[in-house]
Amino acid sequence: MILVVGGAGYIGSHLVKELVEKEEVLILDNLTTGHVEAIDSRAVFVEGDLGNEEDLDPIFSKYPIKAVMHFAAFSLVGESVQDPYKYYENNVANTLTLLKVMLKHKVKNFIFSSTAATYGIPEEEIILENSITSPINPYGKSKLIVEQILTDFHQAYGLNYVVLRYFNAAGAHISGEIGENHDPETHLIPLILQHLLGERDSISVFGTDYPTADGTCIRDYIHVTDLAEAHIQALEALLDGRKEAETYNLGNGLGYSVKEVIETCEKVTERKANVVLAERRAGDPARLVASSDKIFNELGWKAVRNLEEIIGSAWEWHKKGE
Ligand code: UDP
Repeated sequence: MILVVGGAGYIGSHLVKELVEKEEVLILDNLTTGHVEAIDSRAVFVEGDLGNEEDLDPIFSKYPIKAVMHFAAFSLVGESVQDPYKYYENNVANTLTLLKVMLKHKVKNFIFSSTAATYGIPEEEIILENSITSPINPYGKSKLIVEQILTDFHQAYGLNYVVLRYFNAAGAHISGEIGENHDPETHLIPLILQHLLGERDSISVFGTDYPTADGTCIRDYIHVTDLAEAHIQALEALLDGRKEAETYNLGNGLGYSVKEVIETCEKVTERKANVVLAERRAGDPARLVASSDKIFNELGWKAVRNLEEIIGSAWEWHKKGE
């Protein structure tokens, strides 16, 4: 059985939909940001907190857990700057508790959701896993601290792990059953689509004077189902002993500017956006684009869904609420 912590959240719920085809799945989620309706009925669900040993212990005693996949983190850069305690408490301290209980029960395989925010403001056009990590906000720092803990735990306790550094996850499941549903929503693609559905008056472009071709920020958008598939490949590599301690970027290798994303949304939805040019948002690097060659070379994974498919799937899901 595989324990998916945060399996009711955006990326966790998409992973579960793929994983239940291959493994028994147990979800632990406290439903603070996850949604009960996103939980796959084929998985066992326990409502509880990863920072609470009293919630964790009985689960590890009761179920034959082979590996843990950990998605239960806070992930908003701006909020992490305003309220760093919240980020260090949940993303670091609670993860440490989870690791402690895992080790106590001799569960030694761990897949960790990390982020492009660990790189800070990258020097390279295309970011490699061995590029310098120098996060510029508490969110990125909280993830990097856990990465460092994992390195030490591997050496000291034989904990095996794969760290997956996500770039910009977006899109929705092909079934239309689950999608991106944050409250409040801060991410570009859902905000544009909500605007195109008439739920918002306009879409703001945060900064038009970046050193990029059209002056807006460039990001590497990756379909959430591509992300889910990468997790499964990583899990298989851990379980069959091919990998013990690895870190991989997960991106498309392609960068799109904010303006290009808005134009693609207009094309896919055949609707016109009311675009407002706004000030820069604090903490945004001009360009974040991954090389995912390492995971392709080692595990054979690469992203196969392009920006139009990402937006098209998200649109199908958002429209359901229209
Ligand atoms: N962005 C924007 N308007 C918005 C929301 C986001 O221009 O209403 C920009 C943001 O500044 C960044 C890009 O879109 O350059 C992606 O932002 P998002 O919050 O989706 O993801 P992040 O890159 O922060 O993880």
